[in-house]
Amino acid sequence: LPVVAIVGRPNVGKSTLFNRIINQRLAIVEDKPGVTRDRNYAQAEWMGHKFDLIDTGGITWEGGKIEEEIRAQAEIAIEEADVIVMLTSVVNHMTDLDERVAHLLYRTKKPVILAVNKADNPEQRNDIYDFYSLGLGDPIPVSSSHGTGIGDLLDAIVDKFPEDKDTQADDVISFSVIGRPNVGKSSIVNKLLGEDRVIVANEEGTTRDAVDTPFTKDGVKFKVVDTAGIRRRGKVYEKTEKYSVLRAMSAIERSDVVLLVLDASTGIREQDKHVAGYAHEAGRGIIIVVNKWDLPKKNSTSAKEFEREIRQEFQYLDYAPILFVSAKTGQRLDQIPSMVKEVYDNQNQRIQSSVLNDLLLEASKLVPTPMVKGKRLRVYYMTQVSTNPPTFVVFVNDPELMHFSYERFLINQLRQNFDFTGTPIKIIPRKRK
Ligand code: GDP
Repeated sequence: LPVVAIVGRPNVGKSTLFNRIINQRLAIVEDKPGVTRDRNYAQAEWMGHKFDLIDTGGITWEGGKIEEEIRAQAEIAIEEADVIVMLTSVVNHMTDLDERVAHLLYRTKKPVILAVNKADNPEQRNDIYDFYSLGLGDPIPVSSSHGTGIGDLLDAIVDKFPEDKDTQADDVISFSVIGRPNVGKSSIVNKLLGEDRVIVANEEGTTRDAVDTPFTKDGVKFKVVDTAGIRRRGKVYEKTEKYSVLRAMSAIERSDVVLLVLDASTGIREQDKHVAGYAHEAGRGIIIVVNKWDLPKKNSTSAKEFEREIRQEFQYLDYAPILFVSAKTGQRLDQIPSMVKEVYDNQNQRIQSSVLNDLLLEASKLVPTPMVKGKRLRVYYMTQVSTNPPTFVVFVNDPELMHFSYERFLINQLRQNFDFTGTPIKIIPRKRK
């Protein structure tokens, strides 16, 4: 996603603007103290354009020398961002610190947008002409506390997004197909896309390294990540383990959902476990696809037995659904897109803080919190800070006391109450302020 950084001298209202931009999503948690205050990195969306937002003022230290803080902010922004918002304020008019910030930003080739905060009323909105002299183009008056002008600012921001990083509103769900050689990855992709499509993709693949192939099923847009790589790799590149791992990792990175393909005719091998490990660690949605289901001699319990073996060998993937398919006969392949969509929806759902805290209360009645060296864990409240994967911050008396088994228990409670099939869940214990 494109990264947007907010930079500016102290007290111009950087965190207020930050919270205003992400607020649609975080409104629920704002009444809890300390929840938004220490956030300085969040995902936001405007008119269907998604981006990551950084409040650089929240990252750099307070209480240090102002000059150093400003320099650090500018450096983070120049390094990390695709679009930089320099924020200043109509109150106090322009100061030499504003000039210093602007000066640091002249060094970057990245687009810089100048926003003037605290323009709460019409007079103040007209009182921004000084700021032209900063040489950063038209200043945009905003009021972060009232919410005025924010739309204009966001329009200007998304307008500057580099094309290759910009994602549009009509969500395209991207998924990758990974697994060791010969499990049938290309066969599955070929069948999913229809043979003609893949030939086209393959020709493109000769000029470009990674080709993501789009298709639509039942009105939902999908994208198979690195189609060319899947096909090419099977024949030549896959022989070099390092290269194929690298390629798979980059495909996983760019996917919402990962299809981990196993081969029913050979059973589970050591290499399958390596591949599964990467997918799990990346925090993506996962579906386990058992291919070549046409080959083994089967009776009514074969699927159950294979499933038991999978659960045993991939214990950490207990959230991943399993689908038995045959790329050869086409059996159940048509279920793949709808299953990918389901997992995608699960990993992107948001649970309100009030609901989470009811759940926490119920959970506390079921199991006592762990005790370490005579000190008992106290859990105060929980809030969801991001999706994909769903990530929950749990405020406690002492994060050290959050035992693995209790974290596991909380995750199970979440799974029992909501449908998180196919997606990992992250719990972050944090000390209550
Ligand atoms: P990849 O290396 O993972 O992309 O695997 P391929 O798609 O190239 O398939 C490897 C071999 O397995 C090929 O000979 C395919 O024809 C065969 N194959 C793939 N899927 C199936 C299946 O569902 N059933 C059977 N019987 N053979 C399959």
